[in-house]
Amino acid sequence: MGKRINNIVIVGGGTAGWLTAGLISAHHKKRGANGLNITLIESPEIPTIGVGEGTWPTIRKTLSRIGLKESDFLVACDASFKQGSRFDGWISGDEKDSYHHPFELPISPNGSDLIHAWQKFAPKKSFAEAVCVQCAPALKHLAPRQRSMPDYAGALNYAYHLDAVKMVNLLRCHVTKNLGVTYIEDHVIQINGDKDQDISSVTTRENGNVSGDLFIDCTGTSSLLLGQHYGVEFIDQSHVLFNDRAVVTQVPVNENDPIASETISTAHEAGWIWDIGLQTRRGVGCVYASKYMKDNQAEHILRSYIRDEDVDVRMLKFTPGHRSHFWHRNCLAIGLSAGFLEPLEASAIVLVELSAEMLVMNLPMNRAAMDIEAKKFNALFTYRWARIIEFLKLHYVLSRRNEPFWRDNRDPETIPDQLQDNLTIWEYRSPSQYDFEQASEVFPAASYQYVLYGMGSKPLAYPPQESVDLEVLKQKMQNVVRKQRSLAAGLPTNRVLLAGLGKEASN
Ligand SMILES: Cc1cc2nc3c(=O)[nH]c(=O)nc-3n(C[C@H](O)[C@H](O)[C@H](O)COP(=O)(O)OP(=O)(O)OC[C@H]3O[C@@H](n4cnc5c(N)ncnc54)[C@H](O)[C@@H]3O)c2cc1C
Repeated sequence: MGKRINNIVIVGGGTAGWLTAGLISAHHKKRGANGLNITLIESPEIPTIGVGEGTWPTIRKTLSRIGLKESDFLVACDASFKQGSRFDGWISGDEKDSYHHPFELPISPNGSDLIHAWQKFAPKKSFAEAVCVQCAPALKHLAPRQRSMPDYAGALNYAYHLDAVKMVNLLRCHVTKNLGVTYIEDHVIQINGDKDQDISSVTTRENGNVSGDLFIDCTGTSSLLLGQHYGVEFIDQSHVLFNDRAVVTQVPVNENDPIASETISTAHEAGWIWDIGLQTRRGVGCVYASKYMKDNQAEHILRSYIRDEDVDVRMLKFTPGHRSHFWHRNCLAIGLSAGFLEPLEASAIVLVELSAEMLVMNLPMNRAAMDIEAKKFNALFTYRWARIIEFLKLHYVLSRRNEPFWRDNRDPETIPDQLQDNLTIWEYRSPSQYDFEQASEVFPAASYQYVLYGMGSKPLAYPPQESVDLEVLKQKMQNVVRKQRSLAAGLPTNRVLLAGLGKEASN
């Protein structure tokens, strides 16, 4: 059977460390009595990343499982509702060039039906606007839910924009107080165990050795355990995804300003700008490729975008890529320690959630089971990183912009083979669920449809299936318009809903 897994040690207390601690401890609460101890060590010397993050709808289930009330979370984390992303200037760079990637699925899973219905009944509308209730201009700045709805439920699918530093503070407090996680605020200075053996303990500066059976590396880009101790290879992806820097800032907002429901992503000559609306500020960042743009040019683009020459900005550098595998012996990396690509489509925190969820569901009871679980984990997450890289690259490949950064992004040498194959077949048919192997894909066929058709691609042939009843399709599209109207009439704005929660909390 091997040694029983009783002690889990998480090194690192950023978003990855605390979400993982919360999910394991909430799920295995009852095992506590049988001896499952979770310890989280967080360095007081190294700050966590927090730029104003966008998330994915999975975050609602994650927070609910951890046992947080939605209103407490929204108030504590300066959070707002995210219903998808809007991409401005990505197609040709024209002023009016804009498309949406909403979280709601389209009216039919069959892409051919959708294309046919769109072309026949609403050719003047954008694809997403014609086939999805979520992105009509009427829904601008509206919340996806009413106040009276149960926690984490909505009239429309949604995630959040949030202040990750505040989320870490909330999670730390909740997870240590209510879920029994032991917290050590200290800096890890040494990893103990031969490189071809399991890790036995980590040495902290003030608290000596902390032993464990399973170590979770959440140390951010330093990847102290998996990368530095075990030397697990980093697979650099900068030949596919060129962006490697971001200059970021915060823009205060007035308390009555509307709060955007989407992440607004505006392309520039060598990257793009994110604009994320929180309750009290906007998080804005200019992402760029240092090979194509100097730091001062990026800063200038950011300052022009926010129209402020004096605001403080800070620069973050990253190498897009990931480790060759994520679980090695008794060490699993989650978060930036496993890898980071770029913030487009907010794929980082969702990968933390999915990693922690798989660990929680398949937590090995003993050492003999661990290598088998590790193999399964590595296979699934190797697949997930590859699909995310392809999906992010899709946004660049389809662009018709003509600056060197964009032209080079279309060079076939930089396009992963599977994406290239898919692009070839998607000239004739729409992305379908059979193009993707997993039941729960991070980006399903619908996401590809929104980006492909949002950016102007159209399959050469899109015959309606014989079984398709044109009347049914027409009715579904009319229902989209009706539902958009009723949602617009029945939903409060983000600002009104969030201000109400804030007032309740302060009373
Ligand atoms: C520019 C940028 C924009 C981003 N935007 C988004 C977004 O929109 N959506 C999204 O999902 N994600 C986004 N991310 C990623 C997201 O911020 C991170 O994935 C997420 O915060 C998880 O970070 P982490 O916990 O892995 O690492 P960090 O936040 O870096 O935390 C690392 C932790 O490890 C601790 N640590 C390090 N060394 C030691 C040591 N020796 N001893 C003890 N503790 C140690 C630190 O103290 C810290 O607590 C963005 C990232 C960047 C860089």
